[in-house]
Amino acid sequence: MDARTIPITPATPSVREDGHGCHAGADAMQAAAQAAGKREVLAQYAADYPKGPHDQPQSMCPAFGSLRVGLRMRRTSTILSGSACCVYGLSFTSHFYGARRSVGYVPFNSETLVTGKLFEDIRDAVYRQADPAQLDAIVIINLCVPTASGVPLQLLPQQINGVRIIGIDVPGFGVPTHAEAKDVLAGAMLKYARTEAMAGPVAAPRGGVADKPTVTLLGEVFPADPMVIGALLEPLGLAAGPVVPTREWRELYAALDGSVVAALHPFYTASVREFEAAGRPIVGSAPVGHDGTEAWLQAIGSAANVAQAQIDAAKNKFLPAIRGALAARPVKGRITLSGYEGSELLVGRLLVESGADLRYVGTACPRTPWSDADRQWLQARGVHVQYRASLEQDLAAFHEFKPDLAIGTTPVVQAAKEARTPSLYFTNLISARPLMGPAGAGALAQVVNAAIGNKARFDAMSDFFGDAGQGDKAGVWQDTPAEHPAFRAEQKRLAEKRAKKRKAEEMV
Ligand code: SF4
Repeated sequence: MDARTIPITPATPSVREDGHGCHAGADAMQAAAQAAGKREVLAQYAADYPKGPHDQPQSMCPAFGSLRVGLRMRRTSTILSGSACCVYGLSFTSHFYGARRSVGYVPFNSETLVTGKLFEDIRDAVYRQADPAQLDAIVIINLCVPTASGVPLQLLPQQINGVRIIGIDVPGFGVPTHAEAKDVLAGAMLKYARTEAMAGPVAAPRGGVADKPTVTLLGEVFPADPMVIGALLEPLGLAAGPVVPTREWRELYAALDGSVVAALHPFYTASVREFEAAGRPIVGSAPVGHDGTEAWLQAIGSAANVAQAQIDAAKNKFLPAIRGALAARPVKGRITLSGYEGSELLVGRLLVESGADLRYVGTACPRTPWSDADRQWLQARGVHVQYRASLEQDLAAFHEFKPDLAIGTTPVVQAAKEARTPSLYFTNLISARPLMGPAGAGALAQVVNAAIGNKARFDAMSDFFGDAGQGDKAGVWQDTPAEHPAFRAEQKRLAEKRAKKRKAEEMV
């Protein structure tokens, strides 16, 4: 199957004029936003989230990442400012993923956008919501059109009655993936919390202050992973600290208070900036598989000034168990892997150590220093690593390597199934499993081997359905679709004639 891209045709209507600016194309939106006072924030995004080879979200709206982080926090209200269609899609998706929380919305029209009334409406909404008995923070997210129109969320009060106000711009033309949009909000919250901590005493964590130095975990990991990491840290005399993005405001202080920050997911550039400003060392990669766990224990131990003998003791305690678990549950087969969660390289390492013939790892996230060790490890074993991978690159890898199993995003999975190849959706079936330490070793084998074993079922299904529903026959038909070769030939002739005419006009 050929990879196809839906062409994005630039249009030129003014964002301000019609309120439908999100159809104006990324360049027009960028230019409008720059002119409307968002130059600085867009320059910071361009530095934090470098683009290429594609600069257009090929997955869901990036703002979903920020929205989800806000909706998951206790005592936090999240309000969207954007076009109704965007808000509809985002609130639908957030409830599909079990938000169990209302998504706030301040609607606008051309007039309120142009006159600045939208900003006043947002301010009114924030004042009405700011009840310190209910809330620690209110998050307001400018989507594409309000960002391009320069709605100045930075002019909102910093706090109202003690409720913190966090206004962020998360446009699709400035933040490439929903993963990085999580960082936009997490970074903004850390910055706010760091300023509070520098100004005076702040709230202690709900469970009290840890009695050991802690390691802050950066990245949304499987719920059991922090416990596994806690067990790995124990012989080093360390404890697992909060996971960032946090689930509560006061956890931000504890996160900033960690001795070391483990950048388990490598795309949290703005958050890392805040941790570095707080003087915390950052350690990349994660304790995955034998080699990954060994290197991670060493790096964390060294960063926290743990004696080498203690680090070695921790390695001796865990590494044989990990090696044993990997050997007991091998993965057999050729695999291509792609996703947009940021943990793709870690999963790749685990698959290789499990014995898989992994050929390609594509991630929608950018290259950063915190995944360098994973990239080098994979490349040394002949795996092609593609940062900012486009769907076209993921599909090209699938066609080139002809894997026994394709792990990927929805369209990759669909293409693989059409080609009779077993496939697994990365987000739901792979990244939602333990990956770290002894618990992660061998955890992928069951699901991966079961999927590879389904090849015969795909062949049987494809043989049974033949070309039903393919090409012109796709859709719902009352009768067997009849082909009309004469009609097709006539349309082809007309299309060629039109193309010739266009070309001739271009040459005049
Ligand atoms: S906010 Fe921007 S990227 Fe998101 S759905 Fe709307 S137009 Fe698309």
